[in-house]
Amino acid sequence: MPDTSVPSVGFVGLGNMGGPMSACLVRAGYAVTGFDLSDDARSSLSAAGGLTAATAADAARGADIVVLMLPSSAVVEAVLGDPAVTSALGEGVTVVDMSSSDPMSTRRLATTLESRGVTLVDAPVSGGVRGAENGTLTIMVGGAADAVARVSPLLAVMGIARRAGSVGAGHALKAINNLLSATHLLATAEGVLAGERFGLDPAVMVDLINTSSGRSGSTDNKFPNFVLPGTYDSGFGLRLMVKDMRIAVDLAHRLGVASPLADSAVALWERAVTELPDSADHTEIARWAYREPADREPVSG
Ligand code: NAD
Repeated sequence: MPDTSVPSVGFVGLGNMGGPMSACLVRAGYAVTGFDLSDDARSSLSAAGGLTAATAADAARGADIVVLMLPSSAVVEAVLGDPAVTSALGEGVTVVDMSSSDPMSTRRLATTLESRGVTLVDAPVSGGVRGAENGTLTIMVGGAADAVARVSPLLAVMGIARRAGSVGAGHALKAINNLLSATHLLATAEGVLAGERFGLDPAVMVDLINTSSGRSGSTDNKFPNFVLPGTYDSGFGLRLMVKDMRIAVDLAHRLGVASPLADSAVALWERAVTELPDSADHTEIARWAYREPADREPVSG
């Protein structure tokens, strides 16, 4: 007999993050039915003990909670706008968008879903693939207090969740967090390169900065784990980072906040997008910053 006290979960988007997050839910005893466009991603959920569905609508049908971990708002809108998904989402269902989405889109979707008796909670995460595997993510939650309370036990399996405000608040906060993270990653790369040219050992620099006021997630985590060893394999794509930066600066502009530093950072990251392969990890920005300017020109012809 299935345990009816534990909500059934539909999970759409089983990639670098959604794969290990859905596996955490399975380990915690949730009945998870997942869907992803990729066969490999679906197979990894099966291997973790979850069920897989042939479509997003099949994953959503009969679920009490539907979790989305998709690349962008455009994809979230396409999935939730699919008429088959719409009719699969029963009244009373809570959709939890854990993707790093655009808060303006999230607010619009919440209103549309509400008219059909479906509640949207946004719950984007920080902590990377490692945090997803270990269930130690930071989860920034936006939504009505009662809806957030309903999904809190599920979120607690994947990390530490804290309500940031009404629907969209989590997505706004996450975009701003990533704008800061991307800006100091590039600033760290420029600083470490200057130090290296002066004759400093980059590892010593990063170590000393980590007990000094220049410390950040870039010096604490990304440089020692992915940049200095030269692996550039954090599992978070460069293009996804730029998407988040763009959300944050567009939000600032829309709200009348001047952001000249952020605008410059976005312009540099967007330039890196044109020069690096589609699959580039976001930590590649450091290697890109180390290139001579002549090497940075886009290949023409
Ligand atoms: P990913 O590209 O590894 O995974 C996304 C998955 O969505 C892929 O498996 C893809 O096949 C699937 N997908 C795309 N369109 C789909 C559709 N229409 N229906 C079903 N599946 C579809 O990306 P990720 O790194 O797992 O990131 C997912 C989200 O989490 C993004 O919004 C990202 O910005 C955010 N995020 C990523 C990290 C990280 O470290 N990777 C950290 C925090 C937040």
